[in-house]
Amino acid sequence: MEVAGKKVLVIGAARSGIACARFLARRGAKVALNDAKPIEKWSTEALALKSEGVGCLPGDVPGWLLDQLDLVVISPGVPTNAIPIRYAERAGAEVIGEIELASRYLKGRIVAITGSNGKTTTTTLIGEILKDAGLPTQVGGNIGTPLITLVESSRDDGWTVVETSSFQLETIKEFHPSVAVVLNVTPNHMDRYESFTDYAAAKHRIFMNQGPGDVAILNADDDVVSSWAAGLRAHVARFSVRQQLPEGLFLRDREIVSRTKTAEKVLMTRNEMRLRGLHNVENVLAALAAGLACGAAPESMRQTIKDFAPVEHRLEFVSEIEGVKFYNDSKATSVDATLKALEAFADDNGKIVLILGGRGKKAPYAPLASLVREKARKLILLGEDAQSIANELGSHAPIERANDMKEAVALSFRAAEPGDVVLLAPACASFDMFESFEHRGKVFKEEVSSLEFHVSSSRTDREIEGERGGRQSGHSKLETRNSKPK
Ligand code: ADP
Repeated sequence: MEVAGKKVLVIGAARSGIACARFLARRGAKVALNDAKPIEKWSTEALALKSEGVGCLPGDVPGWLLDQLDLVVISPGVPTNAIPIRYAERAGAEVIGEIELASRYLKGRIVAITGSNGKTTTTTLIGEILKDAGLPTQVGGNIGTPLITLVESSRDDGWTVVETSSFQLETIKEFHPSVAVVLNVTPNHMDRYESFTDYAAAKHRIFMNQGPGDVAILNADDDVVSSWAAGLRAHVARFSVRQQLPEGLFLRDREIVSRTKTAEKVLMTRNEMRLRGLHNVENVLAALAAGLACGAAPESMRQTIKDFAPVEHRLEFVSEIEGVKFYNDSKATSVDATLKALEAFADDNGKIVLILGGRGKKAPYAPLASLVREKARKLILLGEDAQSIANELGSHAPIERANDMKEAVALSFRAAEPGDVVLLAPACASFDMFESFEHRGKVFKEEVSSLEFHVSSSRTDREIEGERGGRQSGHSKLETRNSKPK
């Protein structure tokens, strides 16, 4: 695609918009970067683009400019139906997103992953699988590294593994993954879409440009996703944790099986995985299917999966203090993700002290009720939606309120018995108290390590006292709990 001399408007001056503006300006386009935010709030990185000849345009885009544009590149957060964008399109501009722009320049082949949950985990895992299998591999997209920044380093013989959100898929045209994975489609982002069908249709676009030489990987257990198999041009590979498929990858007891028309092979067992929970078996099956489609050897994939630890803030093990294990699933920002997190511990002997709450998403908490009743020792409630959660789940487990994360961690530890798990899986967004789910997870981990420090120093004090008094030092969980930090 030749952009030299073209007039381009890039909408959204955040990470991907900045990267696109720079990319286009370096290729000789006349670029304006627009963001609704007043210029005082623009990042220094965005403003620094002025020195590369990019015009910085805060607020509304002037009408005369909309009439003259050749290309509009929009960031994923910008609604595609915004009136000015439609006017630019009617006046002759092509409107695309960052993923589409990048894919027109990327060398080599693409593996794309989408779904409502599990994208980052699966994308990261596929990246590792391909790298370990010796294939030239790079990873980007919605996961953090804008795809456009990977153009330079892409190679004809390589693979680019791309996490794609439904927003990004709305603005593709020629984006053509050789391997496309859809993990699941559950109601999400209903503030942006008019209906679930609209949202699912955006995800389905991942297959739009696939042909018979490509592979589409579908979750056979998801009714919506599996119903798509019939209409696809690509070769369909299915995976399941619930059914022994006639062909595809599936879980049979603890075995992960790959079956073709003529043969069957056990690739590995679930016990070899470090990732917890059935939802992560789904992610592993999807990643194995993608690895096979790209030509990775089964034994190499098995080793990668054995070594693969959870991505930060996704059911991440933090620490064990006096027999209580702490897990950080700050990324569980929906009721569905929290449910998966609870399910992941359902077979453990101990109970769960669950830290819940934040900015609610107006979804009912009732789906958590039965597991809460069965597994939760206590709910520690935090943030704006604490009262709604108390109303909906208060009759299923004891509850306690915390004012901040420090208190939440302290109260959780006090409530927990040895063998229990303290789980941060809030079922809510973080923005009422934190900058992001990453920030919330970091604060949780910091509070757990300060608790650990406190517990181990008070134990040392007691041991010294015990020695002085010629007594045995007692450091049971109960004693420590009683000497709780504030
Ligand atoms: P995404 O990038 O799609 O948000 P992540 O891998 O970051 O996905 O996981 C998001 C949340 O969803 C985490 O809390 C995680 O435990 C949960 N999760 C991960 N994989 C799945 C899955 N296949 N189905 C349902 N929930 C999942």
